[in-house]
Amino acid sequence: SKLLEIKDLHLKINEAEILRGMEFSLAKGEVFALIGPNGCGKSTFAYTLMGLNNYQPQSGEMIFKGEKINDLKINQRAQRGITLAWQEPARYQGVTVREFLSLGLKSRDKEVTENKLREALDQVAINPAQYLDRFVDRSLSGGERKRIELASLILMEPECIILDEPDSGVDIVALNNIANVINYFKKSGSGILLITHSEEMLEYADRAALVCAGEIIREGAPSAISDYFKSFCFPCAKAEDCEK
Ligand code: ADP
Ligand code: MG
Ligand code: MG
Repeated sequence: SKLLEIKDLHLKINEAEILRGMEFSLAKGEVFALIGPNGCGKSTFAYTLMGLNNYQPQSGEMIFKGEKINDLKINQRAQRGITLAWQEPARYQGVTVREFLSLGLKSRDKEVTENKLREALDQVAINPAQYLDRFVDRSLSGGERKRIELASLILMEPECIILDEPDSGVDIVALNNIANVINYFKKSGSGILLITHSEEMLEYADRAALVCAGEIIREGAPSAISDYFKSFCFPCAKAEDCEK
């Protein structure tokens, strides 16, 4: 069954048309990868789907679990189960890992909370004893913050997760952790939108699509899309030159 449907989505930012007819669907338990050159609109699409301010599409539809979400605010979309992991992992001055991870938890029971935090950190190979009382700030490496952010995603129990280049700037260890988390979500029946450049990450996708100048120009098996991208797309610097 379809979890998410994107239909002919158009978005302008300052008169520039950034999304030009994005269209695809995502099923429960499916990993759908979006690849494409820098500046083709992948992050813009992620923000539009999440509903950030100033990312209101001019036309087209975003349908989540049968409901049109175009006019919903970011928090309403989050409540319905959509979550975005940013390209840059978050930093929170003065917030401990324990506090950060507990934010979305419904249970007030201390033991339940502590167990959930431990389970989530386990998925990303972070030792709770070493990290729970540290701050989510510059004292943690980018890779550590990324892993803690991934643990926070698990705790939110989202039904649709947008991962915007989760592998950017992280080490090999974190790459395995990301794969772990993707598999965890897949098993729990969530749909995953995976924006990535890396071949390793693409191996975890069920399907992939190539984005060029704000629209999907090709969709298929991840390896085929990746091959096509590498052999035909890189020389094409301008959208006008795109021969699809
Ligand atoms: P990608 O994530 O695929 O690298 P982006 O979505 O970040 O691409 O950017 C798509 C295009 O939109 C780029 O040309 C970028 O310069 C432009 N863009 C993105 N955000 C803004 C903004 N806030 N104002 C103006 N142009 C923007
Ligand atoms: Mg980019
Ligand atoms: Mg981007």
